[in-house]
Amino acid sequence: MRSISIFGATGSVGESTYDLICRAGGAAAFRTVALTGGRNVARLAEMARVLRADIAVCADETCLPALREALAGSGVEVAAGDAAIADAADRPADWVMSAIVGAAGLVPGLRALRHGRTLALANKESLVTAGPLLMQTARDHGARILPVDSEHSAIFQALAGEDIGAVERIILTASGGALRDWPIEALARATVKEALAHPNWSMGQRITIDSASMFNKALEVIETREFFGVTPEQVEVIIHPESIIHSLVGFQDGAIMAHLGAPDMRHPIGYALNWPDRAPLPVARLDLAQLATLSFRAPDLARYPALRLCREVMAARGLAGAVFNAAKEIALDRFLDGSIGFMDMAGVVEDTLARLLPELGLETDVMTLEDILGADHLARVRAAEAATACAARR
Ligand code: NDP
Repeated sequence: MRSISIFGATGSVGESTYDLICRAGGAAAFRTVALTGGRNVARLAEMARVLRADIAVCADETCLPALREALAGSGVEVAAGDAAIADAADRPADWVMSAIVGAAGLVPGLRALRHGRTLALANKESLVTAGPLLMQTARDHGARILPVDSEHSAIFQALAGEDIGAVERIILTASGGALRDWPIEALARATVKEALAHPNWSMGQRITIDSASMFNKALEVIETREFFGVTPEQVEVIIHPESIIHSLVGFQDGAIMAHLGAPDMRHPIGYALNWPDRAPLPVARLDLAQLATLSFRAPDLARYPALRLCREVMAARGLAGAVFNAAKEIALDRFLDGSIGFMDMAGVVEDTLARLLPELGLETDVMTLEDILGADHLARVRAAEAATACAARR
């Protein structure tokens, strides 16, 4: 029987993974090793009971008594805290879903790779923060990373049987997010509620705001470079409001392979779960005649400064990805708590990059986990200072 673990089980990607596992037979078809969550212990405990997990772990240590109580008599072990989540990644599982949000997903993912596991990677932040280390760890330990981000799953599928050397360019599609059609001068006043009204995808709160600001796409550009080993110049972004084409690969003979499907994360998750096979998945089938048209437009860099910043990050290399991601996470926290505006997020990230990049060792891809966590920490401190200064100016 195949064994699985889900890190970030209580989130949007985690729920979709759980849904697919249950539909495929649940505890009768899979042995569930570890399920982890942040604070939602009621849901975590429910999932752990249904799948008869070996262990359930919540990140927030203050939630441990509630988790223990919810799982009393179930035979499921319980634990809490970041270290316990990382330890859970040492437990043997054939297939591990990495769906914690933010840089907190990095260490458990790395630990799973060190044991040679197959890592289904939704947590793009770990590739942005530590791409070279993550990919090298996978190579050193014979582990496999399968992309779960819909764009990267699309590219992965378009590349099946192809030589990466024959690729001319990779075109990432972007919905443009909730504020896509707003006048640019109105963006500074956008509220959290408005930025959360995504037209096509149902996702966690943080990635939905990142879609509106295109920080999500900026992370994905870096993720593409790290995962597929192409140059930054080979990665393009196009706005495609319908979210039907999930990405495209252009080859040197002029052919372009596109991946189409309904916007439902259960497709890329299911593809990673069944890989290298394909199995029926409970996603809507496209009716092309009803769709009738698919539209595209070039992104405006004044509207989406994140797309400009990710190019600077890729040019700087080294620890720039860790700084970029950490500063973005802090800027997003401050937008969510109402202290800075929507367009201020990019300003905070730009300011942090400008202050930190000259200080940090750059232009090398040889980095240790300690270097990365140090850069992440420093970036959070500097970004918090930049956000506080920005809030004071408002
Ligand atoms: P959610 O916010 O919905 O869920 C995040 C999960 O991580 C929850 O289980 C949450 O626990 C847990 N969590 C939060 N903070 C911590 C922490 N500090 N330590 C450990 N666990 C924590 O996120 P999504 O599911 O939307 O996204 C997950 C990842 O997948 C992200 O990296 C995102 O970029 C990526 N992704 C998401 C897509 C989507 O459609 N949602 C699409 C493509 C990629 P709890 O809720 O219990 O507090």
